[in-house]
Amino acid sequence: MNAPVKPSKLIKGATGDWEVVIGLEIHAQVMSQSKLFSGSSTAFGGDPNAHVSLVDAAMPGMLPVINAECVAQAVRTGLGLKAAINLRSTFDRKNYFYPDSPQGYQISQYKSPIVGEGIVIAETEDGESFSVGIERLHLEQDAGKLLHDQHPALSFVDLNRCGVALMEIVSKPDIRSSDQACAYVTKMRSILRYLGTCDGDMEKGSLRADVNVSVRRPGEPFGTRCEIKNINSIRFIGQAIEFEARRQIGVLEDGGSIDQETRLFDAVKGETRSMRSKEEAHDYRYFPDPDLLPLEFTQSFVDELKAHLPELPDEKKARFIRDFGLSSYDASVLVNEQESANFYEAVLAALADKARDGKLAANWVINELFGRLNKESKDIASSPVSATQLSAIVDLIGEQTISGKIAKDLFEIVWSEGGDPRALVEARGMKQVTDLGAIEKVVDDIIAANPDKVAQVTAKPAMIGWFVGQVMKSSGGKANPQAVNDLLKSKLGL
Ligand code: ADP
Ligand code: MG
Repeated sequence: MNAPVKPSKLIKGATGDWEVVIGLEIHAQVMSQSKLFSGSSTAFGGDPNAHVSLVDAAMPGMLPVINAECVAQAVRTGLGLKAAINLRSTFDRKNYFYPDSPQGYQISQYKSPIVGEGIVIAETEDGESFSVGIERLHLEQDAGKLLHDQHPALSFVDLNRCGVALMEIVSKPDIRSSDQACAYVTKMRSILRYLGTCDGDMEKGSLRADVNVSVRRPGEPFGTRCEIKNINSIRFIGQAIEFEARRQIGVLEDGGSIDQETRLFDAVKGETRSMRSKEEAHDYRYFPDPDLLPLEFTQSFVDELKAHLPELPDEKKARFIRDFGLSSYDASVLVNEQESANFYEAVLAALADKARDGKLAANWVINELFGRLNKESKDIASSPVSATQLSAIVDLIGEQTISGKIAKDLFEIVWSEGGDPRALVEARGMKQVTDLGAIEKVVDDIIAANPDKVAQVTAKPAMIGWFVGQVMKSSGGKANPQAVNDLLKSKLGL
């Protein structure tokens, strides 16, 4: 059960607080070489109509043949969403005319989908964890695309997308804020990418969402919802919800009522507008597709897929926390994007002592490396510092060959000049001084030069920090901090 909505998540209207209720229908393009019912390529960006078979063009007498890999991908996704897998499901025709769909219907799954109820745990940016029930996941065909900008008087059609497999993932109305909706989609995209079942590329339209929004007074039954169609960016999903919730609150507070309708989000104006009302909604006249047998597979097919699932973000996060003592926040930062998790894992793999330095390595990846990458607007794939190099830097700190401060200088050198960190430390004399005699000399000099401070330190032991700073400074950051501390304490009688 989710905790009750925090008052801060409620929306203040003129007459009191309102709660927003959200359910999402996510369309995720299946990663597969060929389409759901034909052998045509799913490659993105081909010449118009370069990837169209007779089946996709709905020529008379053509028969759809189910693509086993798309079925496997849907099952993998269901398993990743901890969902019930239905060993028997059926394909239905959803009838409507649209010029980019030559069949005159879409093959979808209506009454019995391939995947049933599941669950996704997500976390908002302010650290709130919440769960969203999955209602179902079904397989269906994508449509083609009309091209209106090729000719002043004519429209053209490109059927390359026509028949590409989509997974429609329907959530329960469990989401209670725009932040949660964005976090949920982010988490879904991460899970799909880990699974390798959808590339999650929203710019290419591989992942898009229909967003259902209603509002109510806290504790009241659900209100009437509006559905905002086909939003292809996480930021726009958040904006559309914020606008739509406030629009509905405005209508209700003015004494009006919400009509169930389909709306569009205008990203330029940042507002939603009516597309069609429920009265005008299509009657799709669903019926079982007579060209396709029920989709049936065995539990051992499912078990086999399950046995080969990769480690998913939640499990990876738990492992990072358990094995390396990372904070929940740091672990989340590392696992959200698979590239980041892979990088961190590569650093771990090269570390001399994972148990000792795993947490230190996480700090370096998150704070130094990500911080630096962000500053230069680079992504991890183009990082000038490799996982092996970063691992060597962490080793050098962990084994106390260099101090954390010197490590930052070393990181800068590796970032801009490259090279083997260990060899650089040797060649440039960056090694930490652990020679007690040498450190003692510096300590004595500092104490001798600052009698006033020495007089104060007994009354105010925290002032030792000032001495440590001075010694570190005069040793060029190379003195072993622990040795400096110990020596100072005994010499100052603390
Ligand atoms: P339909 O079959 O008309 O599309 P569904 O019951 O399948 O309706 O719901 C579609 C989506 O709308 C689901 O994601 C669901 O969570 C969401 N939804 C249902 N009722 C509400 C509501 N009152 N407010 C917000 N979202 C809702
Ligand atoms: Mg629906």
